[in-house]
Amino acid sequence: MARYTGPVCRLCRREGLKLYLKGDRCYTDKCAIDRRAYAPGQHGQSRKKTSEYGLQLREKQKARRIYGVLEKQFRNYFEKADRQGGVTGENLLRLLERRLDNVVFRLGFASSRPEARQLVKHNHFTLNGHKANIPSMLVSVGDVIRVKEKSLDSLKFQEMKELIAHKNPPAWLELDRDQMAGKVVALPTREQIDVPVQEHLIVELYSR
Ligand code: SF4
Repeated sequence: MARYTGPVCRLCRREGLKLYLKGDRCYTDKCAIDRRAYAPGQHGQSRKKTSEYGLQLREKQKARRIYGVLEKQFRNYFEKADRQGGVTGENLLRLLERRLDNVVFRLGFASSRPEARQLVKHNHFTLNGHKANIPSMLVSVGDVIRVKEKSLDSLKFQEMKELIAHKNPPAWLELDRDQMAGKVVALPTREQIDVPVQEHLIVELYSR
């Protein structure tokens, strides 16, 4: 599946908040949002009145950019969420959270979702003991995500082992720090999904 390959700090500036797409750099004073807290482009600093449609669109773009999903795939997630019954907006966020790259990030095996995506694509993880190199794979309750034994020897994962000693994943995931593995113990509730998105606006946008 294709992905956005342009400058990512520009996306944060467009949404007007940190989307944490660059890992450690996002926590330093090099963060573009701290330096230039206005939208990119020639008219980025001019004040604009935002319409209702504009607000809905921004919310959808924000969610897409946080999870690194392109428009067509995002629309597919929405349609799937709509078919599930219950609250569509919550279903949508739950589906996005269940992506394998997001779970790898949530477990602390990567410093950002884009990095998690790359690690998954480079074949560093298994899902229930099987090869898992597709970032959009959806995890289910009971699934076990593990760093491959071969990858554990690399410097990257040795350093990560030290980093995850201080990380606590959300309650719907269980982290085994010694084994460098994580288990999905439940599906996330809305309260456990800490993304600054008003999902009802996305539902309104797609219901137009
Ligand atoms: Fe966004 Fe991180 Fe770039 Fe800051 S450093 S603008 S949070 S991607």
